[in-house]
Amino acid sequence: MNLLTGRKQLSLVQESELQLMGASQYKTFLAENKVLSSATSRDAAMVDRVGARISNAITKYYDSKGEGSILQGYQWEFNTVDSKEVNAWCMPGGKVVVYTGLLPVTQNETALAIVMGHEIAHAVAKHGSERMSQALVQQLGGMALEVALSEQPKQTQDLFLQSYGIGSEIGAILPWSRQQETEADQYGLIFSAMAGYDPQEAIPFWQRMTAAGGANPPEFLSTHPSDETRLRKLQQFMPEAMKYYTPRN
Ligand SMILES: [Zn+2]
Repeated sequence: MNLLTGRKQLSLVQESELQLMGASQYKTFLAENKVLSSATSRDAAMVDRVGARISNAITKYYDSKGEGSILQGYQWEFNTVDSKEVNAWCMPGGKVVVYTGLLPVTQNETALAIVMGHEIAHAVAKHGSERMSQALVQQLGGMALEVALSEQPKQTQDLFLQSYGIGSEIGAILPWSRQQETEADQYGLIFSAMAGYDPQEAIPFWQRMTAAGGANPPEFLSTHPSDETRLRKLQQFMPEAMKYYTPRN
C-alpha cells in the first residue's frame, strides 16, 4: 500500500532499486544536456529556491508526524536545463529537472512551485514505480529489474525514462493516468502550500498551460493531459490545501 495515498499499487520493484537507477539516469541526463548554474542564472536560482523550500517543508512535515519513511532514501537535487521543451519531472529519490521552456508558461515563482509540487507528488506517490512495474510485466514478461537491466539494458532504461514522464529523448510519450494525475494534483497543491506558495495559483497556471496546447501540444501537456475535469478537481482540493498555506513575508 502506498504510504502517501493509502492506495494499493502494483509494485514489483524495490523503491531503493529505482532510486539507484534514478541517480544514475539523472547523472547521464545532466551530462547530455545544458545545465544552467544557479550562480549565473536567475531562472536556475529560482528553481533551486523553490525546490529547497518544498523539499524542506515536506521533510519537516512528515518527520513531525512520524511518517518520515514516506521520503526514505530521498537525496534531493534540483537542476535547470536550457531547452525549448515545456517540461519538468522528478525521478525517484528526488532528482528534479525543470526545462527553461516551461518558464514562459509558469510566468511566476508560485506557478513554478505548483508544477514542481505536482512532479514531486508523482514521485512520492510512487507513480513512476507503478508504471515501471507495469512495463516490466507487459513488455519484459515480469522480469526483475536487475535481470532486465543486465539482459535488456537499453529497453529497460527507455522504459524507466518513459515511466517518469521523460519521453522526448526516446520519442515515446506516456501520459499519466487520470488517477495518478488527480493524486499528483491533490498532494502537489498541499506540498506547494506547505512551502509557502499560494495553491490557488494552480488554476490560472493550468488555464495558461491548456491554452499553450493546440495542434502541437508541449511535452508537459502530452504527459499531463488537461481538461475541465482537472480544473474542477483542483477547485475541489483547494480548501484542504489552503489549510497548509501560510504566506511568506
Ligand atoms: Zn502529472
